[in-house]
Amino acid sequence: MAEEEEKYLGALLTKNNSARRMSLLLLERLKAKLTGWRSDMLSHAGRLVLVKAVLLSIPVFFMSVEIIPKGIIKQMESLIAKFFWRKTDQSRYLSLVSWARICQATDNGGLGVRQLQPFGDALFLKLVWEMMSGSNKVWVHICAGKYYHNLGFWRASNVIGTSPTWRHTVRMRDFFKENVKWQLAGGDKVQALSQPWYPNWQVCVQATWRERKITVADLFDFATNDWKREQMVALLGEEGTNQVTSSVKKPVQIQGMEDMLIWAHTRSGRYTVKDGYNVLVSNPQVQGVPWKYIWRWKNLIPKVRIFLWRLLANGLPLANNMHHRIHAISPRCARCQKENEYTMHCFFFFHGSRMVWFMGNLGIRVENLPMNFAEALEYLTQSMNEDAIRVFCYTLWELWLARNAVAFQQKNFDPVAICKKITAWVETNVQGETQRPYE
Ligand SMILES: [Zn+2]
Repeated sequence: MAEEEEKYLGALLTKNNSARRMSLLLLERLKAKLTGWRSDMLSHAGRLVLVKAVLLSIPVFFMSVEIIPKGIIKQMESLIAKFFWRKTDQSRYLSLVSWARICQATDNGGLGVRQLQPFGDALFLKLVWEMMSGSNKVWVHICAGKYYHNLGFWRASNVIGTSPTWRHTVRMRDFFKENVKWQLAGGDKVQALSQPWYPNWQVCVQATWRERKITVADLFDFATNDWKREQMVALLGEEGTNQVTSSVKKPVQIQGMEDMLIWAHTRSGRYTVKDGYNVLVSNPQVQGVPWKYIWRWKNLIPKVRIFLWRLLANGLPLANNMHHRIHAISPRCARCQKENEYTMHCFFFFHGSRMVWFMGNLGIRVENLPMNFAEALEYLTQSMNEDAIRVFCYTLWELWLARNAVAFQQKNFDPVAICKKITAWVETNVQGETQRPYE
């Protein structure tokens, strides 16, 4: 614990800009790690593990003690994205799914990769929380004495000459206005003009010294259990008063209880980095795609699961997708030349794929499938048991490998050979009976 405090202390009190030096060091460390790995030897699933477990953990220590400049964070993320996407060290880097999408939660179409900027902010907000909630830590006392002793935490400004960390604190503290509330007991610990305690509370700059000392306890009549409306209007105005009476829970005096600052998103009422991160990145749900299935299906091979995700995210280098990015590439299916190579054509409607499904263990007929892959996936798997789903996903994977063998190794597309390969896999890997749901 002592070590942690010292580390905060060092970061919070240094005026000279060591952040830049530290950031460059960080970037070097990341590059060194990446050159040590052969990304072409790993599947997407393997690379995803390294991204999550190793690469994204490198900046965490740095970010908890320094503010890493946005430009450096962008560079780090682009290095990591490049590692995730490229097949070999020489080939061009082409990301078929945006990094922002990859950073979404898995139920929302992403891979649950942590975004560095909001994560760094969430870490930093932990320090802000300690200051706001009047933590007893040594570094908090030192900061208070240095930056906001007279004015209070919420009134102090980021005047020139203060440390970059303090200036950042002032920029970040508004985040909490929306996300904290007070559990009022005596009301005497909350200064009505100096601490946010009702919605849309703002710092009142003109307040006199006397007005600043007024606490919530002065505005509440415990005898009648009601707000002192007249005094409150004089101090907060009509609008502020209405907000208090309509949305602030009245103080309750209980022996031994003090007013308490509550983080609104956890049961414990204390800010955590994890919750802060979730609030910072909360995104609207992507509708209409059954993302959650592919993560809930049991016993899938990791590389097959990531492959399914790429299929749903439309992130495979199919001719039709590549054509949208590089116009010189033909969108046509290289195997039959009859249609553009979009997902449903490649995996279902191409006559070779059609044969594999029909002859295969599941006996699927593709004639009446929806044109949209997500819908087709939902339709086909809804009545399958766990083993059938495994066979189904494995078949998609083998179709993809066979398609690539045609494209890059001049092999023939041989439905019979593909079916044999799948049957052999099923015999060694699937114990139960796979029913044929569409016969
Ligand atoms: Zn075709």
